Amino acid sequence: MTAALPDHIEAASPHVMNTYGRLPIALSHGQGCRVWDVNGKSYLDALGGIAVNTVGHNHPRLVAALREQVGKIIHSSNYYHVPLQETLAAKLVELSGLENVFFCSTGLEANEAALKLARKFGHDKGIERPEIVVYEKAFHGRSIATLSATGNPKVQAGFGPLVEGFIRVPINDINELKAATEGNPNVVAVFFEAIQGEGGVHSMTDDYLRQARALCDERDWLLMIDEVQCGMGRTGKWFAHQWSGIKPDVMPLAKGLGSGVPVGAVVAGPRAAHIFAPGNHGTTFGGNPLAMRAGVETIRIMEEDGLLENAVTVGNHLRAALSRELGALPGFKEIRGRGLMLGIELTKPCGTLVNRAAENGLLISVTADTVIRMVPSLIMTTAEADEVVAILCPLVRQLLQEGV
Ligand SMILES: *Cc1c(COP(=O)(O)O)cnc(C)c1O
Repeated sequence: MTAALPDHIEAASPHVMNTYGRLPIALSHGQGCRVWDVNGKSYLDALGGIAVNTVGHNHPRLVAALREQVGKIIHSSNYYHVPLQETLAAKLVELSGLENVFFCSTGLEANEAALKLARKFGHDKGIERPEIVVYEKAFHGRSIATLSATGNPKVQAGFGPLVEGFIRVPINDINELKAATEGNPNVVAVFFEAIQGEGGVHSMTDDYLRQARALCDERDWLLMIDEVQCGMGRTGKWFAHQWSGIKPDVMPLAKGLGSGVPVGAVVAGPRAAHIFAPGNHGTTFGGNPLAMRAGVETIRIMEEDGLLENAVTVGNHLRAALSRELGALPGFKEIRGRGLMLGIELTKPCGTLVNRAAENGLLISVTADTVIRMVPSLIMTTAEADEVVAILCPLVRQLLQEGV
């Protein structure tokens, strides 16, 4: 057995601003779903860099493509055409059935672009104070606008005044949505995650997605689906909303799109594709050749290696094994999610499991206090999923026995 990790370590990086509750671990390298820390200890990675490392660590084809790209050109600016933007955009359009793409570098930037699209959509119709419907427990990022759209008071605390123009409703209740917007001529868009990640892995039902789509059509609102975490194959479809058969008007992406190279994108359907004109929006890094190459190569590997199918197979296997091991325990509530985006809710806070799992060689996270979240690389094997279960379940059992 390895030595227990300390509960608390002194800040090891006095010059780095103290914004994260970090584990006392520094990772040095990885291979597939496995990573090693600077002391040589290995971990099975069920967090995947928070749903980022789509094709795992050190994937030979991704590494070769990025090496080649770095040797050609990393960045050129949007003063010039970047042919790889067209390559990746065409692919995203094909996979989503939407029309065009704006590139940025992070999830919050993709959501900022979506919020700007919605506001300008309103202004173009003569609505001077546009309002956007957002959801309880939502997470959309930490810029001033996206934290205002976020539903977690902890994310907002200390950063008021918040951006105005948001109406908040509970998930999966079309009548609440109708009631909250009744007779309001300023509503321009409905904005939610198909599966809430940070909020505790809560899915919008396929029914609700269809009802929201119909209401947006009826009222001429944009349907904007934040697929930053649940998109890019994680649930076994390219985008999680596709299980319901509908299409959004605006779809922000980031996390898994570049397998670790920062890439964000907003994909727009016909109603949103021509709202921005030159001068309306932009970013220095967005769409740079290195980022675009990462996106193109990530998608190519996903297609060649059947990673959507793998997400379903291994996700179902993991889910079944977890519910077999944990389902009958007092203190177990439910397993939620789809494919390789799973949340296990317990009836008590379980943040300490993150540290205990790491001590035992497994990387996971806990969101919303009581939900163990797993969003591993989409290359995870069923054998690795079994290993996750073998490490995690005894720790959960032990935690639940410890009383309050
Ligand atoms: C992580 C996340 C974001 C924010 O992405 P950043 O790249 O951290 O800015 C936005 N929306 C969702 C659903 C996310 O999971």
